[in-house]
Amino acid sequence: MSHTGASSAATLDRLSLPDQGGHFGPYGGVFVPETLMTALQELGEVYAAARQDENYLDELRRHLKEFAGRPTELYLAERLTEHCGGAKIYLKREDLLHTGAHKINNAIGQVLLAKRMGKKRIIAETGAGQHGVATAAVCAKFGLQCRVYMGAVDMERQALNVFRMRLMGAEVIGVEAGQKTLKEAINEAMRDWVTHVRSTHYILGSALGSHPYPMMVRDFHRVIGRETKAQIMEHEGRLPDEMIACVGGGSNAIGFFFDFLEDEAVRLVGVEAGGRGIQRGDHAARFEGGKLGVLQGCKTYILQDPDGQIELTHSVSAGLDYAAIGPEHAFYRDRGRIQFAYADDEEVLEVFQLFSRLEGILPALESTHALVHGIKRAKEMRSDELLVINLSGRGDKDVSQVQQLLDLGSAK
Ligand SMILES: *Cc1c(COP(=O)(O)O)cnc(C)c1O
Repeated sequence: MSHTGASSAATLDRLSLPDQGGHFGPYGGVFVPETLMTALQELGEVYAAARQDENYLDELRRHLKEFAGRPTELYLAERLTEHCGGAKIYLKREDLLHTGAHKINNAIGQVLLAKRMGKKRIIAETGAGQHGVATAAVCAKFGLQCRVYMGAVDMERQALNVFRMRLMGAEVIGVEAGQKTLKEAINEAMRDWVTHVRSTHYILGSALGSHPYPMMVRDFHRVIGRETKAQIMEHEGRLPDEMIACVGGGSNAIGFFFDFLEDEAVRLVGVEAGGRGIQRGDHAARFEGGKLGVLQGCKTYILQDPDGQIELTHSVSAGLDYAAIGPEHAFYRDRGRIQFAYADDEEVLEVFQLFSRLEGILPALESTHALVHGIKRAKEMRSDELLVINLSGRGDKDVSQVQQLLDLGSAK
């Protein structure tokens, strides 16, 4: 079965978005202080030239292969499939990439742009620490100065990643403001960028922020979906029935989904963090009660209180613990092309253990959200149907946190 009957509407969307101003319909755009407008414009222009430059693209492909370890496998999860007794489950193994998650795809793409711009200093924000580790790694590789901003709470949750970054020569700055997580780290990174904009490139880690970031970060992760498409055709001779990915800012998901947007028979599902449950302040599921607003340079769905103040968020996984979702996801959700679900902390902890036992793979807590929903769906699907789950990262970074949570649970 092939899906060549792509609707012209979807085709147009995919290829014409975002518009010149970085809009995905009503979402996206540029909302930054005057001082950053020039930097964003420069970045937009440099990227527009680079994406058409065969030398740049060759170099990108070479580092993705030699440094990051692409292509990643599309792996049949036999015991998980058997356990669920429904759809045949494949995993896209982004967890096998160097530094442990999909983040390196984008970090390599952007560090090559920084080189093109002659910028020798790199800054980044990080939540779980995976983007910080990927950025520290590419900075070490290319001999660039690297500073990573990280919320103090996240530094505690992900102490091992802090040490990893420092081992690779990055300076890690703890951010004590507010909730001391990703949002505050982004604020600090933006402040730094405003001050040092001539010498510094800001490697933003998700499909978020002001144009051109959401588009650019998406493009760097499209390789995930492109490979998946070729690999599933090779294994099965047809496209999958459903694809599932976890959604923090949305970079692994949009990269995984993008080349399937026109294949309307393929269901695309993003999974947000349900945290302790869908009550105010206890989760990070932006489509469960979020409203249109502007946060950190971008118009999108945001968890906010009735006064428009950014709501507290919570998730067991630092990488999904953020109040806003990438603008492109909001756009395709409105059109019904990408659907959304959520998984809560308790389900995630359970499936983290189940999946490790069944498959011999420790999944990142972020990716485990996709697995939770994937298991539910596989059970509902027929055995002749195909489900592909993006395993965005590995769980080594989460092992001590899970151990603590399980000890707490058994002490009750
Ligand atoms: C950072 C991270 C995420 C969340 O970020 P997205 O931009 O939504 O992909 C998901 N999984 C892993 C393993 C991560 O490190």
